Amino acid sequence: MIRTDLYHLLAEALAEPPEWLACAGHEWPLYDLAVSLAHESESAQRAVAALADVRAESIVARCRRYTALFVGSGRPQVWVYESAFLNGRILGPETFAVERAYRAAGVEPIGAELPDHASLELAFLAQLSDRGEDHAVQAFNQQHAGRWLPELGRTLARSGDEVYGPIGLLLTAAFTLTPGPAPRRSGGIRLPIIQSTAGCTLCGFCVQVCPTHALNIRETRTETTLRLNVAACVGCGKCERVCEAQVMTMNHPAESLELADGWRALRESPRVMCPSCGQPTVSRAEFDYVAAQIGQPAWLAYCLDCRPAFMEKSRSHPGREITQ
Ligand code: SF4
Ligand code: SF4
Repeated sequence: MIRTDLYHLLAEALAEPPEWLACAGHEWPLYDLAVSLAHESESAQRAVAALADVRAESIVARCRRYTALFVGSGRPQVWVYESAFLNGRILGPETFAVERAYRAAGVEPIGAELPDHASLELAFLAQLSDRGEDHAVQAFNQQHAGRWLPELGRTLARSGDEVYGPIGLLLTAAFTLTPGPAPRRSGGIRLPIIQSTAGCTLCGFCVQVCPTHALNIRETRTETTLRLNVAACVGCGKCERVCEAQVMTMNHPAESLELADGWRALRESPRVMCPSCGQPTVSRAEFDYVAAQIGQPAWLAYCLDCRPAFMEKSRSHPGREITQ
């Protein structure tokens, strides 16, 4: 399913720019796919980091990029037709062979593009993949798409274009996916750090949104710790964006955490002890945050088990202040 979606979205990305391409990279539907593939492919891992840097732009500006790269006057910077890419010839033998492959599969390409345009070959693969015709996908890759689209991806990645560079990385990833152990972390990936630890309330929102479970909150009897599994982080930046306190920031490892596997503590806070039973309750960070919001009522420090008794006692002694 992921492969079908990847073919489909890459087909859209390499056609005349669709509306979603005008958004920032982290809002593209391709972004979530890149994140889920980051542990299977180094190209996808690099794409995650590159997509996080793609800024929003008007669709007109995106179209200008498309034209500059793929259309141009005379010879474009990058050919997006199989025949031209492989042989420097538009309407070469590959063009007609691809057309025949479509017809043999009962597919009628629509639109004005030549059949061997990258977006049409990818759309065809998406259709075959959606129908579960894995052999047909394999055959078309051997005869056509797989012969040039991975190299087109590398060419785009090298182009330095902020928008089509990451698309190129994903295009390469689509043809080189090999499920297995996580690839070695590529250079340039950013990892989350908390610059102002006192500002982190240990709310856990960042943990909830992390697509790779690279963040967790560990509680011991005495301490609550927000931790990062460096090896699992793909640098997508979702944790940074969800942090309302704005204390989480993405940084390059050389400036923050060394590149290594294992868990790193990002924020530690002692736990508050219930004044009645002595059991640990919330972290001091959470306690201080809630206290600041609601004015530190006396019941706040009590654990959930002891709180009702404390409240009852308070009610039965009106006018008398009961302290911890
Ligand atoms: S880093 Fe931000 S989102 Fe994560 S626990 Fe701290 S305050 Fe919450
Ligand atoms: S820790 Fe943050 S940057 Fe790393 S994968 Fe999770 S959400 Fe993305």
